[in-house]
Formats: sequence, C-alpha cells, structure tokens
Amino acid sequence: MFCPTCKSLLVPKKIGKGMVMGCSCGYTAGSKSTLIVKETVKKDPKAAVDVVDQDKGETLPLTDASCPKCGNDKAYYWLIQTRASDEPETKFLRCAACKHTWRDYS
Ligand SMILES: [Zn+2]
Ligand SMILES: [Zn+2]
Repeated sequence: MFCPTCKSLLVPKKIGKGMVMGCSCGYTAGSKSTLIVKETVKKDPKAAVDVVDQDKGETLPLTDASCPKCGNDKAYYWLIQTRASDEPETKFLRCAACKHTWRDYS
C-alpha cells in the first residue's frame, strides 16, 4: 500500500489498541471508527454469574455414618462424579447434628 498523498510506502502505525497503515506525512489508511467496530463486544457480566448453589439442607437422604467431629451417627449424603468419568463417584456426608461435611473414601 502506498500513500495517496505523497506516494510513500505505508508503514504500520499503532493507534490505541489497534494497528493501521500510515504514512510519515500524517496520512493513515482507515478511520478510527473502523477500529472501534472491530473491538469485541463485552459480554454482560450479569450473565456470567452462576446460580447460587442451593443449600442441600434436609432434602438429602439420611444414612448411618459416624461424624468424625461430634460422633453423631446420622448424616446426610450425596454423590459427586469426579472429573474423570472412569473414576467412581465420591460420597460426601454431612452430619445431621453439627453440619460437619466430609468425604467418604470407603
Ligand atoms: Zn504520505
Ligand atoms: Zn457432627
């Protein structure tokens, strides 16, 4: 590309976040409005907010398990699949008395 004003070879110039082809005489190819259009539209930050994790509360099934913290023998439990699908599910327990939560490795 050559400058239409002085016929010199255009060189890349940095304008703001973008690059344009420009000339030492002050000519720049393209306009700033073109650069603004190229900028990616930012995602709505509200859309990225995850739904607040619901309290598992009393909807979980009860099982016989000894709480390592208070010794209570009833605990709620639920299963969580780990990242690797070939691994067994991990069992989590939450003491019905003191709400202490722990993993069951057995
Ligand atoms: Zn020029
Ligand atoms: Zn407990």
